[in-house]
Amino acid sequence: MLRVEDIETYYDTSQALFGMSFEIDAGEVITLLGRNGMGKTTTVNSLMGILKPRAGSIKLDGVEVMGSKPFKMAQLGLGLVPEGRQIFPNLSVRENLIATASNHLAMSNPWTLDGIYDLFPELAERKTSMGNLLSGGEQQMLAVGRALMTNPKLLILDEATEGLAPLIRDKIWNALAQIRDSGLSILVIDKNLNDLFKLADRHYIVEKGQVVWSGTSTELQKSSDVQERYLGV
Ligand code: ATP
Repeated sequence: MLRVEDIETYYDTSQALFGMSFEIDAGEVITLLGRNGMGKTTTVNSLMGILKPRAGSIKLDGVEVMGSKPFKMAQLGLGLVPEGRQIFPNLSVRENLIATASNHLAMSNPWTLDGIYDLFPELAERKTSMGNLLSGGEQQMLAVGRALMTNPKLLILDEATEGLAPLIRDKIWNALAQIRDSGLSILVIDKNLNDLFKLADRHYIVEKGQVVWSGTSTELQKSSDVQERYLGV
């Protein structure tokens, strides 16, 4: 469904991605793993059109989309849960959910407010609260719900459980498992390997702006040397 090939992305004259490549099949869950500063967020921002790669290719269902603007990438089916959540502080929970809601791909069972409230009952209880009055966990649930309301074909989560209490983190992981079971493709960046092993099909380890290892959950679980070398586990 998504094929990223040899992308090179710069910040001004400083190169951050050096031929980054990976792919995701429909219904698959993959991760980008790696230490801080290795290029995971840069990869996500390159995918979303927030940063423009200078070389390479990004194909969605066989169609070249590299260089498209972020709104176009969203219309094409990429739903981002950004690092730091970035919810709208002066909109209510309900307004946050409907502000960017759409169904550009004409999905047959689109997400609705009720669907999001079923997934995260905490949001139903706070539907009239302003975004800036929510706890970190509630904000994170809202960021996931907001991305789902765009009815994407690929949900992308950049550090969605960072800084959250274990109980809240578990709620997010449970919701992601439900979303996966519904057939949606997911790309996750996170540091909680044990949770990722349960959720994801395959993993890509990123080091200095390129993929240095890829494999299944079972393969990575068995490769303690790979975990130690690239992830510091
Ligand atoms: P983290 O988990 O810390 O976000 P990451 O793997 O997502 O790490 P990136 O944020 O993509 O890494 O950073 C990749 C490289 O690009 C790093 O060397 C970083 O210093 C550099 N970089 C990131 N953002 C900028 C920026 N706005 N301007 C210049 N360089 C940047």
